[in-house]
Amino acid sequence: MTATHLSSAELMQLEDKYGAHNYHPLPVVLARGEGVFVWDVEGKRYYDFLSAYSAVNQGHCHPRIIAALKEQAEKLTLTSRAFYNDQLGVFEKYITGYFGYDKVLPMNSGVEAVETAMKLCKKWAYKVKGVPRYQAKIIFASGNFHGRTQAVISASVDPDSTKGYGPYLPGIEIIPYNDLAALKEALQDPNVAGFIVEPIQGEAGVMVPDEGYLSASAQLCKDANALFIADEVQTGIARTGKLLACDHEDVRADILILGKALSGGVFPVSAVLADDEIMMTILPGEHGSTFGGNPLGCAVAMAALDVVKDEKLAENADRLGIIFRQRMNRLIEKCDLVTKVRGKGLLNAILINDTEDSKTAWNICLEMANNGLIAKPTHGNIIRFAPPLVMTEEQLHECCDIIEKTVYHGRKSV
Ligand code: PLP
Repeated sequence: MTATHLSSAELMQLEDKYGAHNYHPLPVVLARGEGVFVWDVEGKRYYDFLSAYSAVNQGHCHPRIIAALKEQAEKLTLTSRAFYNDQLGVFEKYITGYFGYDKVLPMNSGVEAVETAMKLCKKWAYKVKGVPRYQAKIIFASGNFHGRTQAVISASVDPDSTKGYGPYLPGIEIIPYNDLAALKEALQDPNVAGFIVEPIQGEAGVMVPDEGYLSASAQLCKDANALFIADEVQTGIARTGKLLACDHEDVRADILILGKALSGGVFPVSAVLADDEIMMTILPGEHGSTFGGNPLGCAVAMAALDVVKDEKLAENADRLGIIFRQRMNRLIEKCDLVTKVRGKGLLNAILINDTEDSKTAWNICLEMANNGLIAKPTHGNIIRFAPPLVMTEEQLHECCDIIEKTVYHGRKSV
């Protein structure tokens, strides 16, 4: 069966009839991508302003990453970890050098990496910190999004993520985000193993904490002999204008969680990085994944990380992010439909002047798609803007023109 003869409408019907209804996509059916652009089945071109939730930082189908994929795919794709393969060790040396850690544990999806970090954190607590058996506690921040598994949603306060999925995993405490006093208080408990936090909360609507929050949090954890664990699945790999969002405050997490753009959106690759004191607490047979560390993923991830450095994507994200927020702030002055822009680098969001359950942001996204730019609301009245980091300044201005034009029109129609 081939899909090439089917229209967008027919393809949407297929998903509706045969797929689980666990997503609510914008009605755009994409068939091709290149750099900052994607094309739908009918050949209409769009600027991609979501980048698959920041997985396609290097741009769609980056030729160097695709070349690495093809070359490796013709040689060896999967061995499992029952045997060694000729890519894994090379990748492990490369990525640990790249991010400055002793060791890496490769997985596939972002949420698996978060799960891995939770398990690692607990092992360390029992073996190194000396927390009594099965008393370990992990602190999370309210408003977090770390993925969809049972353990990870146990740390969520979003009813969409949690409703109907109890009972939840014990040993989790949720404190307010961007609240150092709450963290200090929670860390009084000697059984706290670690604090898992997003340097910027992406899914929550690009919530940027106060300056100094990350460095002070890391210090509080250090003082309490608990691990500071950064989930950089969405913020990492140059998205916020630095290689890692923690770099904005010169913070080195005890455990670093990466995913998404680690492979440029070409293949699911995630990773957990830590030093020996932590990583060596997990022994053979105690954790793993059939696909984790597969040669295809390793080859792809090395190419994807090469691209980030060689094409100076962090610098570009930083520079274009400043321009983007300037343009949006000018829009806010002129138009009361948008009340705020916030973000760092090319991870930004605008707030729409309407209630969270209104359709305004959704309708603006539909209209933006008509005008050739795709983005999606997150939490009702917030629209996240996260284009590929290979964008040029000229393209960014063209995109800001599209957003402005759409919002002006939206103001008239709501
Ligand atoms: N952590 C963060 C901060 C994320 O934003 C996401 C996904 O959006 C995840 C974890 C989960 O990643 P995945 O969807 O690849 O499991």
